[in-house]
Amino acid sequence: MHRSKFLVASRGEVQIFATKCGPIGNNVGFIENTKCHEAVLIDAPFGAFEASKKILSPETKVIAILFTHGHWDHVGDGHMFKNSGAQTYAHRLDKLPIEHPELVAMLIGADFDLVPCKIDTEVEDGDTVSINEWLEVFCRWIPGHSAGDLAFYIKALGCVFTGDTLFKDNIGRYDLPGGNESLLIAGIKEKLLTLPQDTIVVPGHGNFTTILKEKNNNPYLDGK
Ligand SMILES: [Zn+2]
Ligand SMILES: [Zn+2]
Repeated sequence: MHRSKFLVASRGEVQIFATKCGPIGNNVGFIENTKCHEAVLIDAPFGAFEASKKILSPETKVIAILFTHGHWDHVGDGHMFKNSGAQTYAHRLDKLPIEHPELVAMLIGADFDLVPCKIDTEVEDGDTVSINEWLEVFCRWIPGHSAGDLAFYIKALGCVFTGDTLFKDNIGRYDLPGGNESLLIAGIKEKLLTLPQDTIVVPGHGNFTTILKEKNNNPYLDGK
């Protein structure tokens, strides 16, 4: 089956692609350095491991996975990348469902297998994850969809991965455990809408957008 990959941004030898994976169409970000043949993934839903072989050049090794949050649809293939040597990053408040997905499976009555994936590095609000001197990822904690939601801002390429916090014309649901509507909206306004207006937004699901478009059109962020 042909898998669509979209070029999100590109600068020098670094390219950012996104594709959809998993049963509910999660966007996965592939940040690839075509010179040193390393890649960083944003989220690892079911199917991301297979997709990485098609999307990345054959010499490229996935050296890190940054999880936006711990919901099952974002983490299903995490263990496969971990087993092939990738370092894993997540917020401490969303570590538990990634490391102990059997608890999640019990809660939601899942009929698919979730395999534990150990988190190597806990990421806090304001942290910068530096990858071998070719990539800097600025991490912003935006709770309210889940407790440990992170947005990953790649300043050098003008794009931000927002997980399930901000979508095109929508925001993440806040009725799940750890959810909080006012925290979510306040976090989006403070930590995303303040980014440069032309920043490309790659949400966890659905179409890409920009900060400016969401400022102007997102009905949940009125009054901004
Ligand atoms: Zn979610
Ligand atoms: Zn999701």
